[in-house]
Amino acid sequence: MSHIENIYTLAVPGVQQLIPYKPGKPIEELQRELGLDRIVKLASNENPLGPGKKALAAIQAALPELALYPDGSGYHLKQTLARKYAVDVSQITLGNGSNEILELVARAFLTPELEVIFSQHAFAVYPIVTQAVGATAIVVPALNYGHDLDAMLQRITDKTRLVFIANPNNPTGTLLSQASLEAFISVLPDSVICVLDEAYFEYVHASGLGGQDATINSISWLKKYPNLIITRTFSKAYGLAGLRVGYGLSSSEIADILNRVRQPFNNNSLALAAAEAALNDAEHLASSINVNALGMQQLTEGFKNLGLDWVDSAANFVLVHLKQPGMPVYQALLRKGVIVRPVDNYELPQHLRVSIGTEAENQVFLQALNDSLAHV
Ligand SMILES: *Cc1c(COP(=O)(O)O)cnc(C)c1O
Repeated sequence: MSHIENIYTLAVPGVQQLIPYKPGKPIEELQRELGLDRIVKLASNENPLGPGKKALAAIQAALPELALYPDGSGYHLKQTLARKYAVDVSQITLGNGSNEILELVARAFLTPELEVIFSQHAFAVYPIVTQAVGATAIVVPALNYGHDLDAMLQRITDKTRLVFIANPNNPTGTLLSQASLEAFISVLPDSVICVLDEAYFEYVHASGLGGQDATINSISWLKKYPNLIITRTFSKAYGLAGLRVGYGLSSSEIADILNRVRQPFNNNSLALAAAEAALNDAEHLASSINVNALGMQQLTEGFKNLGLDWVDSAANFVLVHLKQPGMPVYQALLRKGVIVRPVDNYELPQHLRVSIGTEAENQVFLQALNDSLAHV
């Protein structure tokens, strides 16, 4: 092994080919590059209000205990989740972000012989966790930017072990009806695990965006479908992305399997304390949902004024169709101190994904977009 490039051939085949997840550009990085003071970041679907007061107080209170390992069972957070969602504690798996749950599912259930089905334009983590374990991804063409559930069903074979569905989907914001989702889950073979990724659940439910249908809670399906895993997160509506905490809800059996492969202390003590407090902060959640609804209106009106189309979104971001290549517009926005998300890696080269910010941030973005469109 004298040549360093040979080290790559030692990695397992999936990892050799793996293209890592590309996160939104950090604020500090752009500040360093441009020497700008004011940066508006609307790139990672973070809560523009920040964390709530109760979460911050819980973090403060937990600081003196930092020399101790966290509670590896997440007792208090699980108790609070179990009460809130009327599930048994044994049905909950805590993750270092819900991303970790997606990865645990892949590690626990996939082998290189098996197949995973997900949609075109679906969340970028699904292909990554699939490939990392050497399983085969079956990518089903999207329908109107969203999941084509019938086409996905048709791709199920004896080799299928896992289906990922994001509802609403990131980066498109499309929402499937609960009725169509349950119809899909109910006909899945028992040997196929379905991950229903509800990272934006709170926006749909608390805001009434999904209408009457959205009041059908997918958690009620867990009793009927032992192969269902619902994932949710504290990173979006709860404003705690930096702490990395999310969870899976499933049958106790699946939770037991996932808990076998997770690290014993995968959630740090500040994250556990803050997440529990956030669940009890209805006021902050309501403000967050409200700012989002107003911002969505502001942005889509702005798009209309600029003659642009967008994809109707049930989440805290919106996919705008520029009708020209997105990358140069993304770059032009960066030069004006505005970070959004290019989505060419999602096969959407003429779109940008914009997270909903505060009224002032949205205004800065719309002005910068107007100026950028005129000049690229
Ligand atoms: C943001 C997001 C997640 C998870 O984020 P975590 O911070 O890891 O909880 C999962 N799925 C989708 C679709 C997302 O957009």
